[in-house]
Parts: sequence; structure tokens; C-alpha cells
Amino acid sequence: MMASEQFESSLEFAMQMDREDKLAEYRSKFFIPEGKNRKEQLYFTGNSLGLQPKSVINHIEQELKDWKNLGVEGHFHGKNPWFYYHHFFKSEANVVGAKEQEVVVMNNLTVNLHLLLVSFYRPTKQRYKIIMEAGAFPSDMYVIESQVKHHGFTYDEAVIEVKPKEGEHHLRDEDILNIINENKDELALVFFSGVQYYTGQAFDMPAITKAAHDAGALAGFDLAHAAGNLLLKLHDWDVDFAAWCTYKYMNSGPGGVSGIFVHEKHGNNPDTPRFAGWWGHKEDDRFMMRRGFIPEPGAAGWQLSNAPVMTMAVHKASLELFDEVGMEALVEKGKRLNAYLEYIVKKAQDENPALEFEIITPDSRGCQLSMLTNENGKRLFDYLTDNDVIADWREPNVIRLAPVPFYNSFRDIYDFGSLLSSFS
Ligand SMILES: *Cc1c(COP(=O)(O)O)cnc(C)c1O
Repeated sequence: MMASEQFESSLEFAMQMDREDKLAEYRSKFFIPEGKNRKEQLYFTGNSLGLQPKSVINHIEQELKDWKNLGVEGHFHGKNPWFYYHHFFKSEANVVGAKEQEVVVMNNLTVNLHLLLVSFYRPTKQRYKIIMEAGAFPSDMYVIESQVKHHGFTYDEAVIEVKPKEGEHHLRDEDILNIINENKDELALVFFSGVQYYTGQAFDMPAITKAAHDAGALAGFDLAHAAGNLLLKLHDWDVDFAAWCTYKYMNSGPGGVSGIFVHEKHGNNPDTPRFAGWWGHKEDDRFMMRRGFIPEPGAAGWQLSNAPVMTMAVHKASLELFDEVGMEALVEKGKRLNAYLEYIVKKAQDENPALEFEIITPDSRGCQLSMLTNENGKRLFDYLTDNDVIADWREPNVIRLAPVPFYNSFRDIYDFGSLLSSFS
């Protein structure tokens, strides 16, 4: 990460950073929403809904055209035959550091978490506990709660939440690893997010996975805020399973499809238990309409339904941009943007006593800063919103900002800093 001494809070400096930015041209490949008073909003909510790539419409039009002209024949004779549609997402594996066969794009995130837990949370009388972070995203809490109940356990019996130490905001790696070790005789699963949605903390996934395995348990991750944001190496880290949505850092539209990862050691084992549907059946005799499910090898064997082509077309457009740029370059720029944001925010705070908040995102992070505010927080947030800053407010009192390397500029951050300086 760039040391903050290298930064300056000046328009010239920000514009110079933009000139030197090798990814600067990508901003023009996205629609930046118009502001009330500015030509373009200061959009820092790519962690919630990424902006629309301009190429999306062509990808959707292609599928509409094939449907219009070919009807059902589009399944095999369209430009991108729908029967094979999920094959066009092989490079999704590069985004999460996996082998092609270990990843498939299907359904939505919460649905996929349930499907993966059907396979990888198989509690016994002896081993039934799940360790997760306290304050997880609500959908994940409900998923885990309903899964343990489904298996006949109460939440309190089966779920161990790792909490920050008194007076701290994020988890210490050693606390997570110790709790895993302390519960090793009863532990079935460690289920964490890759990046905590509220604090922005990025967890040490390889260490957590290793500790889970040493304890005789499995390790799975919700990568909603990590996919397209962090450099991931799911295969090498030996992660058992993971899922993510594609509409946050991956810019694939509201309610967009989800990706899953199943490590090949599970994915290539046809006996790995799962809920099945025809689209996970062996592809070459899927249309034989026979009894007896034989899974496709790899993550593809977890598919249930034929591909939702329209929403996947959006993701296809976005994935092409990831293919062009690659995660290394994105992460490199993302770190610099986020470090500049932190510098600008702290500088504004030094100079303006009206800015009463604390950055709670630790150095282990992707593109996000969470600012813990006090009773003045909502007023600051409303002021920013009135000035065309799109950030988000998370109850009870956090403002989250996520600068995204594809389309945010250093100038955006400088302008944001100027607004902070004028807050009173
Ligand atoms: C955004 C997010 C979700 C959303 O789930 P959907 O099924 O896509 O609605 C779930 N979990 C986490 C951790 C998230 O950040």
C-alpha cells in the first residue's frame, strides 16, 4: 500500500494521479449517474450496486434478437447457445482464483448458500457446530439459523459467533483461530464472509481455512463483498466452498446472478451429497429424460435450472471487462484509491472539528472505508447526499464508502474531501 506521505490534498495532485492511472479509460465504459448539481455523482456505492457497463445493452439485445428470430432454436443455434450459456463464464474462475471447473454461475447468492450448505453442513451428534462472525449480513444469519434448525439444533447450541474484543470494532485473526481450535471436537463448519459488509474487514481466508481443516471441519465463505474486490486464491487456499453475488463489485445489475466455488476435491466426487436438478446432470445425456441423477463434474453439477439468460447476459458484459483488465491491476488501483480516500478523509478531519467520526475499517481490507459516526452522523450523511455523494448509511450509525477501481477517479475523492471540509 502507498504510504500516505506520498499523497497531497490538491486538485492538481488528484488530476495527476488520474493521468498516471492505467485504468482511467475504463470510467468511460460505465454510466455514471448524473448529479443534481454536478455532471456526475460522486458514486461510492459500488459495494452495494456497481454501475452499469455501457456494453450491457448489446449483450441483452443479442439474446432478445435470438429469441425473437429463433424462438426455441436459440438453445442450440443462437449466437451464444442458451443450452451452453453457463460455459461462457469460465473466466469467472480467474476472478476468485479457481480452476475453471470449480466455478459456475447460477441462481442468486442466498439460494446458493443454502444449496452449498446442503452439501457441506452435514452435522452429526458429535460434530454440529458452525463458527461465524458476529454481526454477519442478515441473509447469512438467517441462512445459518434456518439450516441448524432444519437439522434439529437450536441456534444457541450450534452457532458460535466470533465477536470483537470489548471496545474494538473488528476481529483479531488470532481470536478467530483460537475459537476454531477450542471447538475442534464439535466443529462441523467455519462459515465467514471474505470481507465484512459493515466494517470492511477482509478476513485471513487461508489461515481460517487451515485452522478449520486442522480442527477436522470444513471452511466456506460468502464472498459478496470480496469477489471483484480482493485478490482471491480459493483453490490454492483449499477453501471447500464459496458463493458471491455479481451485482456489487462485479457490476452485473440489481438481483444479478451469483457465482459458486466448489473445490475440485468435492466437485469431482459424484457422491458429494447435493440437491439436484436437470441442469446439473451430465450434459451429454441431459435430454435423455431418464431417472437417476449423474452429476456433471465440478461446480456445474450443482446447477438446478437452465440459465437465466437475460440476467446472465448482463454479467457476461461485465465479466468481459474483468477479463480485459485482470484482478491484479484492479486490486492495485483499488488499494491506491482507498488509501487516498483514507488520507483525504483524515486530512479533512484534522482541519474540520465538525467531522465527528472514526474510521473502523482495518488495514486488512478491500475498497471500502466505514466511518462510525455519532448522533451527528445522519446530518453529515444527509449533507453529503444533498451534494451528490452516493454513499450508504448502515444502521445504527455507519457511513460506508467504496471507491471502485473500474470507474472511480482520484478526482472523485478529492472532490469528496472538499465537501467534507465545508461541512459545518
Ligand atoms: C449482498 C449480500 C447478500 C445478498 O444476498 P442476495 O441473495 O443476493 O439477495 C448476502 N450476503 C452477503 C454477505 C451480502 O453482502
